[in-house]
Amino acid sequence: MTRMADMALSEGAVDFIDDAYLTGLVEKTLADAGRVRELLAKSLSKQALSVEETAYLLAATDDDLVEEIFETARELKRNVYGNRIVLFAPLYIGNECVNDCAYCAFRRSNKDAVRRTLDVDETRRQVEALENKGHKRLILVFGEHPRYDADFIHDTVRTVYETKVGHGEIRRVNINAAPLDVPGYKRVKEAGIGTYQVFQETYHHETYAKLHPADTRKGNYPYRLDALSRAQEAGIDDVGVGVLFGLHDWRFEVLGLVAHALHMQQRYGVGPHTISFPRLRPAQGVEVDYSHLVSDHDFKRLIAILRLAVPYTGLILTAREEPELRREVMAFGVSQIDAGSRIEIGGYTEAGDAQTQALEKEQFELGDIRSLDHVMRELVEDGYVPSFCTACYRLGRTGEHFMEFAIPGFIKRFCTPNALSTLTEYLVDYASPETKAAGEKLIAAELEKLEDGELKTELIKRLGRIRETEDRDLYF
Ligand code: SAM
Ligand code: SF4
Repeated sequence: MTRMADMALSEGAVDFIDDAYLTGLVEKTLADAGRVRELLAKSLSKQALSVEETAYLLAATDDDLVEEIFETARELKRNVYGNRIVLFAPLYIGNECVNDCAYCAFRRSNKDAVRRTLDVDETRRQVEALENKGHKRLILVFGEHPRYDADFIHDTVRTVYETKVGHGEIRRVNINAAPLDVPGYKRVKEAGIGTYQVFQETYHHETYAKLHPADTRKGNYPYRLDALSRAQEAGIDDVGVGVLFGLHDWRFEVLGLVAHALHMQQRYGVGPHTISFPRLRPAQGVEVDYSHLVSDHDFKRLIAILRLAVPYTGLILTAREEPELRREVMAFGVSQIDAGSRIEIGGYTEAGDAQTQALEKEQFELGDIRSLDHVMRELVEDGYVPSFCTACYRLGRTGEHFMEFAIPGFIKRFCTPNALSTLTEYLVDYASPETKAAGEKLIAAELEKLEDGELKTELIKRLGRIRETEDRDLYF
């Protein structure tokens, strides 16, 4: 491990990504069906895999063995996480940016980008529009710019929480913004955030250097790699890692993500809460090397392998992907998706539900621009329980987020009842008649599955209160 150059890094920071070693694992690990099956059994027993073990799963290319990997990921998802899917929406606050990431339409050299930052009133109006659709969880997205400093992020989060309309309120605000220093993270934490996400984009040093010019803030690889360790030092124990797939060999990147998760786990006793795996999308004026684009088949492999390698970490799938594929990979263990998303700044009030996209105002093109109601209906018809639950973080059940994974009965006691309560709120307050009918049917079926007892009686009482009174936000 290389000691990192001093630039306000976390205590004892090291660069734990060894390109030559990870590349060697990708290139030299031989296909071994017996070993793969042993590892699948290990994952099913809820143990995380090492990078070396993950490399065996990556080396499996035979169709039947890949199908076994898919099936094991489905089984892990079914047995451990059940059929809940958490829903959120992204809210782009501003696209000013001092960086020049080759793949992003917000890069400073893109002179055609229409630059805009929402002011407080505009932010409120976007939030109201999202609340009126039924959203309860947002991720705020920022370019990297001195004006988007820790105070600005803090104040924006406060504005979001304070904005309420009817029964609408945002109960959890996550952040996707530039890395901060420790005091900066502390300031943002004071606003009561959920997860702070920073994607490494690519763990491969040479590729990173090519895509992020050295004279930009983001050009500093070690500073970015250390971003979430600084967040931990500042007391933010809920962090999200990610890779922009398509910049370098996807198998190397999977190993990078696993190495990062293990590093966090070892250092702080808690791994990342979530992993994001966006695939590179077309963006305004972007011409990068597309030779590493990930096919749909490999994308499914990488999601299934991540599910198995880091079984206790949430997986986030975004609307960059097309609806059909989203539907398929959800079964592999995706735990969160966004829905009804607009990534044009001001898009929730100004673009409405129009199926049009204005490229000069967007960071990249979306693959799924269906409404929240449409996505909700499809989910419930497919037997998923869409959830807007925010209970754990509000009750201080964070950090040890793998509770739901590791503590027997946790999902039954907390997650399922909370998912059904928040779904009922949605159906009563926001759903179309068709979604409402489909959702009520699903709730009845889920209640049927619950064991009789105090918890079930209390839950049924609460669902009745939501339907018949103004009571909301009832959680376990
Ligand atoms: N500016 C901050 C940063 O770069 O970390 C945070 C916001 S940035 C708008 C959020 C993420 O968008 C980036 O981390 C990157 O992974 C993703 N992104 C950028 N360009 C993209 C593209 N063309 N297709 C898909 N995702 C992209
Ligand atoms: Fe700026 Fe982030 Fe886009 Fe890079 S990815 S140009 S830092 S907004």
